[in-house]
Amino acid sequence: MENYTQVFDVIVIGAGVMGSATAYQTAKRGLKTLLLEQFDFLHHRGSSHGESRTIRASYTKPYYCSMVLQSSPLWEEAEAEVGYKVYFKTNHLDIGPSNCKFFQTAIDSCRKNSIPVRVLDRNEVSEEFSGRFQLPEGWIGVVTPHGGVIKATKAVAMFQTLGVQNGAVLKDNAGVVDIKKDQTTGDIIVYTNGSGTFRSRKCVITAGPWTRKLIETARGITLPIQPLETAAYYWKVNEGHEEKFTIESGFPTFGSHGEAHVFGTPSLEFPGLIKIPIDEGSACEPEERTWAAQPGLLGALREWIKGRFGGLVDSDGPVITHSCMYSMTPDGDYVIDFLGGEFAEDVVVAGGFSGHGFKMAPLVGRVAAELVASGTAEGVDLSYFRVARFEGSGVN
Ligand SMILES: Cc1cc2nc3c(=O)[nH]c(=O)nc-3n(C[C@H](O)[C@H](O)[C@H](O)COP(=O)(O)OP(=O)(O)OC[C@H]3O[C@@H](n4cnc5c(N)ncnc54)[C@H](O)[C@@H]3O)c2cc1C
Repeated sequence: MENYTQVFDVIVIGAGVMGSATAYQTAKRGLKTLLLEQFDFLHHRGSSHGESRTIRASYTKPYYCSMVLQSSPLWEEAEAEVGYKVYFKTNHLDIGPSNCKFFQTAIDSCRKNSIPVRVLDRNEVSEEFSGRFQLPEGWIGVVTPHGGVIKATKAVAMFQTLGVQNGAVLKDNAGVVDIKKDQTTGDIIVYTNGSGTFRSRKCVITAGPWTRKLIETARGITLPIQPLETAAYYWKVNEGHEEKFTIESGFPTFGSHGEAHVFGTPSLEFPGLIKIPIDEGSACEPEERTWAAQPGLLGALREWIKGRFGGLVDSDGPVITHSCMYSMTPDGDYVIDFLGGEFAEDVVVAGGFSGHGFKMAPLVGRVAAELVASGTAEGVDLSYFRVARFEGSGVN
């Protein structure tokens, strides 16, 4: 069934945080927008669901520091437009052995972007955070502003609401099975599994862990975007210490570097619980997941919690586990580019966010909208995110 009555300016495929932010931005520019989602809106089978995501500006690659700074006012603008909050600010603390490579590169990147950095020894960390973090001998802490927690599912819902308010059409349970170029009209034709066929002038693919599969079908090339099954773990703060882990009491978002990259957020979404995951997982296919906690990783996390939070947090085991997926690229950089081939500059792909994209969603949405509207985007150096960087190393 081809739905010719609906010729859109833009069809966005995938209603995670990136697709929802993109649909909001295209609709806001007056483009007639359709957002298609294969499952129910706000489902838990991709990457954008859940109660929280960390914001931090401490990146080793300076272009991400700049993107975090540019994202911040866009989060505030969206909050102001919708009328509620999704972003809760606090400082960010990075800890680890002083000789860990992360520190020098991250400090340089922050300074290049005029982000104030404070380097603390282990005693100063203990003093600054009233004994809540216990660092081993030889570890340091680096405090930066622009940390915080985003309420994840609420943020996706916010962008979808704003999309609708700006005139976008949203359709769920509409899985896209193929995309073709009409050689006569130049339109993009988007085929779904039972929800119709749609036409548009431009298209944006924000399919998260399904990106590789959809692009293989549409363009016949394989982008090295590997889905990774991982999980967010919530741990119980021991009785009597709950207030110490809240934003109100000055508790930061944090990352721990060295043997394992452990990170976490203050206690916010579940009173008395603190989220502490580990930045690892297992390669998977989106439809073949275990949905389970990963025992190998839990052992390392237990040890980390025992060491860093002593008797303040119960390290016996997490009380809540939320399964989730990353979409990894070989270099950990995003893919934000035109799809090329027969689609040339009519289809934009925004994927491969490699476990650190959420905080940038409003900026990614703005960039994707600018690419479809005018072919260029302001303020972001897209050379790091090109499809062509994979040539000879996986794209075939
Ligand atoms: C445990 C965990 C912790 C994280 N922590 C952080 C953090 O602290 N800070 C941070 O910045 N980032 C973090 N991230 C990463 C961040 O959540 C992701 O980068 C971001 O959510 C990616 O969003 P997305 O829209 O690209 O993908 P998704 O949310 O997966 O959205 C893609 C959507 O496309 C739909 N779709 C796919 N194929 C089709 C199709 N053919 N037709 C129609 N629809 C389709 C899917 O169903 C899905 O809804 C974390 C991720 C995880 C899993």
